Amino acid sequence: MTAPVLETEEHRALRAAVAALGKRYGRDYMTRITSAGGHPEELWAEAAKLGYLGVNLPEEYGGGGGGIGELSIVLEELGAAGSPLLMMVVSPAICGTVISRFGTEEQKRAWLPGLADGSRTMAFGITEPDAGSNSHRITTTARRDDDGSWVLNGRKVFISGVDIADATLIVGRTSDARTGNLKPCLFIVPRDAEGFGRRQIDMELQAPEKQWELTLDDVRLPADALVGDEDAGLLQLFAGLNPERIMTAAFAIGMGRYALGRAVEYARDRTVWKSPIGAHQAIAHPLAQVHIELELARLMMQKAATLYDAGDDIGAGEAANMAKYAAAEACVRAVDQSVHTLGGNGLTREFGLASLITGSRVARIAPVSREMILNYVSHQTLGLPKSY
Ligand SMILES: Cc1cc2nc3c(=O)[nH]c(=O)nc-3n(C[C@H](O)[C@H](O)[C@H](O)COP(=O)(O)OP(=O)(O)OC[C@H]3O[C@@H](n4cnc5c(N)ncnc54)[C@H](O)[C@@H]3O)c2cc1C
Repeated sequence: MTAPVLETEEHRALRAAVAALGKRYGRDYMTRITSAGGHPEELWAEAAKLGYLGVNLPEEYGGGGGGIGELSIVLEELGAAGSPLLMMVVSPAICGTVISRFGTEEQKRAWLPGLADGSRTMAFGITEPDAGSNSHRITTTARRDDDGSWVLNGRKVFISGVDIADATLIVGRTSDARTGNLKPCLFIVPRDAEGFGRRQIDMELQAPEKQWELTLDDVRLPADALVGDEDAGLLQLFAGLNPERIMTAAFAIGMGRYALGRAVEYARDRTVWKSPIGAHQAIAHPLAQVHIELELARLMMQKAATLYDAGDDIGAGEAANMAKYAAAEACVRAVDQSVHTLGGNGLTREFGLASLITGSRVARIAPVSREMILNYVSHQTLGLPKSY
């Protein structure tokens, strides 16, 4: 009998190859790019050329024919090397998945090869200022004109990478002709569409990807800007949101591993008494603890990716939420403990760990907050009543 494996030979080879790429760039590269206000274009292009960015996309459209399992390995390893590519969460994972699952043949041909080879990027916009965590409350509205074109109006907030993305996949609502109720729908909005305005949000975050507040003011789009079936509702949306949660888990695990690695190196050497500080259990045990938590989170991420790639959207939904929760919590604790392990050096620019304190909090809030996942598990898994 062959022993069950969590990762195949190919997966392990992918991990090793991406780790080697990440090592050639690393945190110094990201810090330099971020300080200069630039984007990690060289890393993005090289990762794309090696087939890593489109590893989850169908082969017939230039992708690698793999799944979110493979894509999450890529993001985790780049992050563990200190050079995560946040736009992987939205461009190939959400937008690439939604278009390959629900797009028309023309949309697939227009977008997937570019998303796979990195020459095109797509952002994703669902969050709104007055809806926040309550995405049922979004008010961005799409009206169909007599000539079949769409007219979008609304506002979005905290949308990442809109400036570098060729288009943004916007979640809007159309009204149901039968009931008059609003239903969620996805639209491809080109960056320079008339009436599509953006304002950069001044974030404390030190990352090359910027966040934007968007205004859609009578943005007129052709009929084929709609992705998928107008009546499919939440199903299509969740097909994209599960990969988003799995990829956010990969982002968080990568960052946690990076921070932990720096702390372990430091604790092995730094000696202020007889032995290195890593010999003191007050330093060693919390580091061992976060290592275990990161490993556990990865296990749940692997479960979620396996379910998703096997086509089990419902099962993947629960696991993807739990993986995102576990990974974000492990990442926040890993970064906190790592900064502490370095003493004063934890707060210097030279060691570069303190800025990860803000970075690690992103995974706790986005794309769905810790509390909303706890709500989901309370209601969906445990069957407890809702307070809202
Ligand atoms: C760096 C960054 C990048 C982002 N990128 C994108 C992007 O590319 N695209 C996109 O669409 N969005 C993006 N977001 C937005 C992100 O998904 C939202 O910030 C998140 O969904 C939370 O919404 P909110 O900020 O409005 O918080 P709110 O909904 O206002 O929540 C505030 C607090 O209240 C808590 N809370 C709310 N409701 C409940 C409840 N019922 N029970 C218990 N607690 C509750 C929350 O957990 C949170 O702690 C990004 C955010 C950040 C910070």
